[in-house]
Amino acid sequence: MKEYIKRVLGLEKQSDYVINYFNAANIRSSIYMSVVVVALEIWMILSLTKHVITSGKPRTAAWLASHYGWYVVLLVAGLLVLIYGIRFRMNKVKENSPRWHWYALLWQFTVISIVFGIHVGVDSYAKGDQVLGFLTMVVFIMCIIVWKPLVGTAISVISFAVFYYLAYQKAPISYSNFVNIFTMWITIFMVAISAYNQRISDATKSEQLEKINEKLRKAALTDELTGLPNMRAFRVDAKKRLEEALAAGEVYDIVYQDIEHFSSYNERYGFEAGDTLLKNFAAALLECFDGYPVARYSDDHFVMLVKTSEGHERSFALEQRLHEMEGDIRLTMKGGAYQPKSADVDIDQACDYARVAANTVKKRYDQNFRPYGDKLAQAVQDKQYIINHIDAAIQDQQIQVFYQPLIRTSDETLCGLEALARWRDPDLGLLAPYKFIPILEEYRQIHKLDQEIIRQVCRDLASSKNEPLGQIPVSVNFSRLDFELYDVPATINEIAGSFGVEPKNIDVEITESALTGNAEDLKRIMETIRGNGYSQWLDDFGSGYSSLNVLKDFHFDVLKIDMVFLRGFETNPNCKIILNTIVSLAKQLGMTTLTEGVETREQFEFLQSIGCDKAQGYYFGKPMPREELLAAIESGRLRFA
Ligand code: C2E
Ligand code: MG
Ligand code: MG
Repeated sequence: MKEYIKRVLGLEKQSDYVINYFNAANIRSSIYMSVVVVALEIWMILSLTKHVITSGKPRTAAWLASHYGWYVVLLVAGLLVLIYGIRFRMNKVKENSPRWHWYALLWQFTVISIVFGIHVGVDSYAKGDQVLGFLTMVVFIMCIIVWKPLVGTAISVISFAVFYYLAYQKAPISYSNFVNIFTMWITIFMVAISAYNQRISDATKSEQLEKINEKLRKAALTDELTGLPNMRAFRVDAKKRLEEALAAGEVYDIVYQDIEHFSSYNERYGFEAGDTLLKNFAAALLECFDGYPVARYSDDHFVMLVKTSEGHERSFALEQRLHEMEGDIRLTMKGGAYQPKSADVDIDQACDYARVAANTVKKRYDQNFRPYGDKLAQAVQDKQYIINHIDAAIQDQQIQVFYQPLIRTSDETLCGLEALARWRDPDLGLLAPYKFIPILEEYRQIHKLDQEIIRQVCRDLASSKNEPLGQIPVSVNFSRLDFELYDVPATINEIAGSFGVEPKNIDVEITESALTGNAEDLKRIMETIRGNGYSQWLDDFGSGYSSLNVLKDFHFDVLKIDMVFLRGFETNPNCKIILNTIVSLAKQLGMTTLTEGVETREQFEFLQSIGCDKAQGYYFGKPMPREELLAAIESGRLRFA
């Protein structure tokens, strides 16, 4: 009930939004009203002046003051409201300027208008004229300006009561006049109250809409899980901040931070706990980077724009906070930074550079942070070059297969060739595989290269079909990704078939490190390849962490022993023992053995002595183009059995 009464009287507490909306609407309508008042008063002043001049009567100062006074006062009151209204509409009134300025103007105008209205109304009444002057002013004040009901009631009751009283002093008021005045009052009062209700309901609706809009705006710029700004917000904030900072001659970094081992945390404690950790981390991030633009980049990756001189200290503080949350799993932050030199920088690109820098310290125990420098910039450029050019390189025959001879230890004759890829770039020269294979793997493009190599190998085999060289098998390297990216068994069959090459002439090499982890699918595919008649070679044996497991789980025809064991051959006696053991182990498992990296006669003779079947290395020949291989055969440097 109390609430209801308050609402009816307009005494309920309104939000700032509603009050401002209300005032703005009043200021707007006051402009029209004050224009009318100002025009009216100018007209009155002019016509009075004309009357004074044409009548030719001399007027006393008192006469002039009593006749002009009201018009001038009203004119000034109206002008003040008009000027304020226009300034407000032109956004010249400052947002935080006090509201009382407006209230004071409104009230002076109201009081002056009403007093003037009563004055002329009573005067007219005394002369037996109509009281329209009074009513006009009340309509102005009550119907064009919208008042809170209580205030509106007070103004209207007081003005009608004073008018009635003063008029009554001049002459008794007839019953019919009383009814007329009373009806006018009721009408004006009702109009004022309904205008108020209408305006409050408009203001409330507009406020609700504004709130919904605000929520939508916020949602579009906020990361749902952590409540941090998202990348869309970061792009704008960081850009603006960067512009200001660079203009002020300050140096800022885009910092990228990744929580290492977060996936282990998720596995250990569950996703819900993982989400909680991210939320807590986000809260800590906001505190540690207070005042700087920050955002959740994705998953457990975050970005911030921070003054270079403060980045390290703040990241360190954040990492301490992370340790307080980590539980059993040691969580570390791996970060990278990029320093934009100009405000024109693309923020996404800058984040990407920082991310690239961070990725280089991932899985490193000795380093947690790296700025993006010239070396990295070059690496990124190289990467882009490789990815952008691989298709054209294949098309333009810049990819070329090199062959390295494989030698039978018993009689030192040629027993095989390994196909090794080279990229002959018109600008960069001859590129070794380490320059492009890891990149092609990272971007899942390696299948393009490998299929091209199979094609070239089959083409070469087919072209020397009836010569001794055509009988020598060629081993081709495959990446683990090949088995994910295309149907390897079908593709080898198809290419070999199209050149009329038999499966016994192609060996499939797969490196040991490709076989760790869940390899059930791979195992099935490799059995298919083997079933199709291709021999299967395990490359780089001994270079990985679980070499013996690989031997347990897979079946290989040839074991290629990694060259690391020959690297310490001369100085480390353990190397010989290990090589000896691997060779005899392989023999017991029914595998042929080949040792890679043979560079000296001594090494070769040792391999002979331990019964290693084959050898490969610079001692017999580096990887070379086919023409060179043919020349080596021609010259007798390489012999067939
Ligand atoms: P890999 O299959 O183990 O090939 C042997 C690598 O050892 C070759 O390097 C070869 O030049 C090098 N090598 C041979 N004998 C010696 C020696 O006596 N001393 C020394 N220091 N090195 C020797 P390359 O050609 O640079 O190839 C590197 C790796 O790139 C290969 O290792 C292979 O894993 C990969 N690769 C090469 N071509 C291809 C390809 O067509 N496809 C795929 N997927 N990988 C390839
Ligand atoms: Mg190989
Ligand atoms: Mg190898």
